[in-house]
Amino acid sequence: MIPVQGYAGQKLAVLGLGRSGLTAAQALIAGGAEVCAWDDGAPARDAAAEAGLDICDLTRPGALDGLRALIVSPGIAHLYPAPHPVIAAAYAAGVVVDNDISLFFRSFATSDWDGFDTSPRVIAVTGSNGKSTTSALIHHILEANGRPTQLAGNIGRGVLDIDPAHDGEVVVLELSSYQTELARALTPDVAVFTNLSPDHLDRHAGHGGYFAAKRRLFAEGGPDRAVIGVDEPEGQYLANQLGQDLSDDRVIRVSSGQKLDQDGWTVFARKGFLSEYRKGRQVGSIDLRDVTGLPGAHNHQNACAAYAACRTLGLGPKGIAAALHSFPGLPHRSQVVAQAAGVTYVNDSKATNVDSAAKALQAFPNIRWICGGLQKEGGVDGLLPHVGAVQKAYVIGREAADFARQLTGVESQICTTMETAVAAAHTDAKEGDVVLLAPACASFDQYDNFEQRGEAFVAAVKASLG
Ligand code: ADP
Repeated sequence: MIPVQGYAGQKLAVLGLGRSGLTAAQALIAGGAEVCAWDDGAPARDAAAEAGLDICDLTRPGALDGLRALIVSPGIAHLYPAPHPVIAAAYAAGVVVDNDISLFFRSFATSDWDGFDTSPRVIAVTGSNGKSTTSALIHHILEANGRPTQLAGNIGRGVLDIDPAHDGEVVVLELSSYQTELARALTPDVAVFTNLSPDHLDRHAGHGGYFAAKRRLFAEGGPDRAVIGVDEPEGQYLANQLGQDLSDDRVIRVSSGQKLDQDGWTVFARKGFLSEYRKGRQVGSIDLRDVTGLPGAHNHQNACAAYAACRTLGLGPKGIAAALHSFPGLPHRSQVVAQAAGVTYVNDSKATNVDSAAKALQAFPNIRWICGGLQKEGGVDGLLPHVGAVQKAYVIGREAADFARQLTGVESQICTTMETAVAAAHTDAKEGDVVLLAPACASFDQYDNFEQRGEAFVAAVKASLG
């Protein structure tokens, strides 16, 4: 745990008692603060009380009096569609609203570091898709190359739950737009922007607000190095804003598909090969075609971003290449879960938005596509240009008929449940086909989360294969 510095003897409140809220409360107490905790849900309050936290009803009038700050969990709206009533009350009362990411950045460095040979560093990764894969990949590359490293944030552990840094340690943080939008301190050494496509628009009042939330990681923190995916105008704008000109190597431009061989520092993947250029000369090259843990052009983008982040720390291309080959991939992201009778079964349950599903549809041939669920804003129009490899769609979700109706030009079957969809796809599949779960929707109409949906897919595949 990282004890939170700067609040000893002061009173703070924590709103939202999931994983990150509980850890934030405990880390504040470890740093000597007095903490009152609240969650709108009784089960979360009971669990927190059992963990020894003081529960106090923050919705009561006057509950915020005397508070130094209100620490808010990322799942709770602080602005759009409307601030949670407790947050609105904090704004009205002038109480600082902040989050655990900010507490981490204020507390990570300690006087112990004075004796270190190499200062610990923080790499923070944001973007619409590929954050988890890129973060886990950076962590894996560092580990494989013998560098002390920890992985936290939106993935796995809460940021304040990690251990105090060792000499030369690199902490890799995955940060969502909810987290970057609210944090008052955001000071990574290296910041990574993977890509941008519409998502979570309700929480940011549209695409511009969503980008502005992510941009804060670069604009507020002033990282030493920024690794920027430039395949969308937002990335191009960000790279342009952060550097003096193309040769400014504080910015490393990354692309999947474009040849970036101009002046400056670039890493790009084309036709399955990763290339690194510096000052117009190629300085590194890796064949990604046989890297089984990172299938598809979207994962090659992640490989480029992770490669670039590790190069900023002085790792060599050879050591990085070896680690790319040993990366097992993450569950629920383009994950091959079975192969039988020449048919491959792929779990991409994390494809919860249109762009990630479109990328999965481009990564595989002869697709029997299991899709549908709770639709996000913008509908499925963005998928239609990418359905060329789809032989048939097997639509799940409570609104399966509505989703299927929008898939113009694609043969589809309304299956509603995962079990029916997998059984039908299995029956139809011929040698060389790929049965792909890439829903392009959230899972909450039928499942608690995307992990549960992915596990249901794996169980149904097992049942079909007997
Ligand atoms: P995040 O943490 O940003 O949600 P993940 O690595 O968990 O990213 O991947 C989320 C989804 O997006 C998965 O379906 C995955 O296959 C897909 N994906 C991964 N990397 C990319 C990328 N660079 N561009 C588009 N989609 C991606």
